[in-house]
Order: sequence, then structure tokens, then C-alpha cells
Amino acid sequence: MADVDPSDTHGIDKASAAAHLSKNLDRLSVLQYLLYAEARRGLVVVLQGIDAGGKDGTIQHVMSGLNPQGVRVTSFKVPEGAEKRHDYLWRVHCAVPEFGQIGIFNRSHYEDVLVVRVHGIVPKSVWSKRYAQINDFERMLSDSGTRVIKFLLYIDKEEQARRFHERIEDKTKNWKFSAADLKEREYWDQYIEAYQDMLRQCSTKCAPWYVIPANRKWFRNLAVSQILRDELEAMSLKFPKPIAELSEIKFE
Ligand code: AMP
Ligand code: MG
Repeated sequence: MADVDPSDTHGIDKASAAAHLSKNLDRLSVLQYLLYAEARRGLVVVLQGIDAGGKDGTIQHVMSGLNPQGVRVTSFKVPEGAEKRHDYLWRVHCAVPEFGQIGIFNRSHYEDVLVVRVHGIVPKSVWSKRYAQINDFERMLSDSGTRVIKFLLYIDKEEQARRFHERIEDKTKNWKFSAADLKEREYWDQYIEAYQDMLRQCSTKCAPWYVIPANRKWFRNLAVSQILRDELEAMSLKFPKPIAELSEIKFE
């Protein structure tokens, strides 16, 4: 994270980013159609980030061109009910999409090495083993046909303050404001430390982390759409072979 400037826009201006984003969304729609048609592999997109980091906005703006039939968004909250009566990966595994589908995780199993670590919800002897367990889980998914890609939306403390102020001042955003988020802000440094450890320990070939400079929402959307596009292109998706010699089929 030390190498990433949350305000970075890689020299791209807002207008050309919008044009590029629009092209990416068109292409993503085609790639999703291929994934759906092929129905042999899946994709999990993990979104993590500090409060007000832009997880909801990314889903709204980058996934908007996808066919809802092929997408499932899961938001992971404080575990409750059956979730509490299972291991921490159970609810995540249940949310892994079937082949042909894209699963978008708004928060994920990484909360179990982030909020859980920062607040000491379980002792270090428990959470420190989870990095290896998560790597094993993600490798198993990858070996079974589900690609996992992970985005850390990275804003700085000043940008979070700006967004919190907006939530207080803008009547249409009041509902997003939570006093609990202000409390979490006091743990900023501990979160950064937990993010660093997560990136260090869980950046793997089969399930890479991408740190996205996210102070500028338009750049964040462009970066996420471009990576998603590149990832799906790299899967070399193909239509399945037709079931029979279609030209021989005759009907009235
Ligand atoms: P939000 O994303 O704003 O709806 O908030 C969801 C809340 O659930 C956040 O404060 C997360 O940190 C919390 N959360 C998600 N997963 C876990 C978990 N495994 N253990 C504890 N808290 C969690
Ligand atoms: Mg929140």
C-alpha cells in the first residue's frame, strides 16, 4: 500500500476515463455472455475497503452493464444465526456462484482477518492461522474452476472525512451515515496494518489482490472495469460446441 497514492489517476483525465469506462462496460457485457454460455467456470470478485471506500459505488457503476441473470451480489455483515454456528468460511463458500456466473462479494472472508483482528474478536492464535486457510480455500476454488480476484479500494483519511461530511450534509445520503463508522475511523492505523498483512500473505497467483487508488471515484471505476475486463479476456472464454450438427436439424 505504501507504493500506492490513493489520489493517483495515472495521468488520465476524467473525460477520457468516462469514454474508456463505457467501452469497458460494453466489452464486459459480451464477456459475461460468453462466461454464461460456456457455463464451465465461475468468477468471484471480492471488494474490500475502509468505510466510505466506495464498495457500493463500484458495484453500481462497474457492474451496471452485466446481465442480472448471471450475477449475484452478496454483502457480508456481522455474522448472525446459522453463520455464527459454522466456521467463518462456510457462508462465503455458500455464496460462491455456480459455473457461468459472477459472484460479487461486498466484503468477504477477509473481514475475518480485518475487523476481527482489529477488535480482537478472536485471539491472535486464531486469526493468524486464517491467512493460510484462506489461501488454501481460494486455491481450491481456483483448481475447481472459479477464478477469484480481489480489489482493495484505497482512500485516504482526508477523503473518508470528506465523504462522511457529505453523508451528513446531503439529505439523500443521510441514510448512509452511521456513528459506528466514525468509531471505526479511530482504528485507522490498525486497519492499515491489517490490510498490509492481508496483502502480504494472501496475494497469490490464483487469487490476486489489486490495490485501487480510490479517492477519485471515476478513476476507481475505470481501474476496476479494466482489470475485470483483462481478467475475463485472459480466461479465453468460448461458446460451447453445439449439441448436434445444427445444419442437419429440420422442422416444420
Ligand atoms: P456495511 O458494509 O456498512 O453494511 O457494514 C457491515 C459491517 O459488518 C461492517 O462493519 C463489517 O466490518 C461487519 N462485518 C462483516 N463481516 C464480519 C465478520 N466476519 N465479523 C465481524 N464483523 C463483520
Ligand atoms: Mg458501514
